Amino acid sequence: MPTSLTVGTATAKRGELKKGVIKGIELNTTTSIDIPVLVMNGEKDGPTLLMVSTQHGIEIQGIEVILKIMRERVNPKSLRGAIIGIPVENPLAFMHHQYLSWIDNLDLGGGGSASPLTADQPSGTATERLAHALWEEAWSKADMVVNIHCNVRPDSLFFTEINIGNPSTRESLERMAKAFGVTNVVESVPLKEKAPDTLANLAVKNSVPDILIELIDGRWISEPSTTVGIRGVLNIMKEFDMIDGSIEKQKGITIIPGVCTFHGIVRANRGGLIRFKKAPGAFLKRGDIFAEIYDLYGDVLEQVKSPVNGYIWAYPCGDILGTPGSLQAVQTGANIAYAFTSSDK
Ligand SMILES: [Zn+2]
Repeated sequence: MPTSLTVGTATAKRGELKKGVIKGIELNTTTSIDIPVLVMNGEKDGPTLLMVSTQHGIEIQGIEVILKIMRERVNPKSLRGAIIGIPVENPLAFMHHQYLSWIDNLDLGGGGSASPLTADQPSGTATERLAHALWEEAWSKADMVVNIHCNVRPDSLFFTEINIGNPSTRESLERMAKAFGVTNVVESVPLKEKAPDTLANLAVKNSVPDILIELIDGRWISEPSTTVGIRGVLNIMKEFDMIDGSIEKQKGITIIPGVCTFHGIVRANRGGLIRFKKAPGAFLKRGDIFAEIYDLYGDVLEQVKSPVNGYIWAYPCGDILGTPGSLQAVQTGANIAYAFTSSDK
């Protein structure tokens, strides 16, 4: 553990919390769009935890989780290791209330594209430069990453998602997910040798476990997301001996046990408004109707059925201009639901 930790313009000595920015890009007004960062350096040795939120500009719950943990819940005098907190990873998306960067319509994390945005392009587009700056200044200095996203209304399930396909990060990811303590969706996709250098892939190449967390009601800072998020991240810190205390079970929310596996996206075959008949987390048999699409006369056009014996974790309906969950209305081909199965059923 170094005596001081520098991220962007913030340098924290042992026992200190400092704030600063990671230099971002300049708009055509020469206004800088930088990335605010908090750096907490503990008095004692331990791992460096990176917490990031709002890679997608409309998913803001993680901001509150990071601020509460770093400003109220953890004291640098008793911390073992360090915490880097980045409340808004993509200010270009956040400033325009958009899922993706407004300036080039790209996803900082490389999601949703056949040729994903990578973090190895210091001379790339605006969003590529942000990703590169984040890698150089923050991700490359971390021993583990908590990447906080959010699903949207109507009610969604809290879940974590881990990829256990890489031996170098598997054990840590399983410990992180168990400690966080909500429904855990597992995938197993080993990193290909020539995989593009997205932030997440670079983490794997450096043996850094990177857990995805999905809170709920992503457009607002609200309960129970704040409490579940803080409890889960503090549990991870306890599991890795960064702070004292025993792990607190998550409560008051639906948790699907077993090894859960993503089944696929259910899409609309008709266009219109949509209403939901089953809450996420309710067990569905294949063919059970869980939603209806209706037109502006009130006639039902499509009854939407479960493709599998399993569950829905969220209704990210709409999916327009790259933004899932923008409105409770769909066009043909729009996302309606994410379906998954559990080994327990
Ligand atoms: Zn997201």
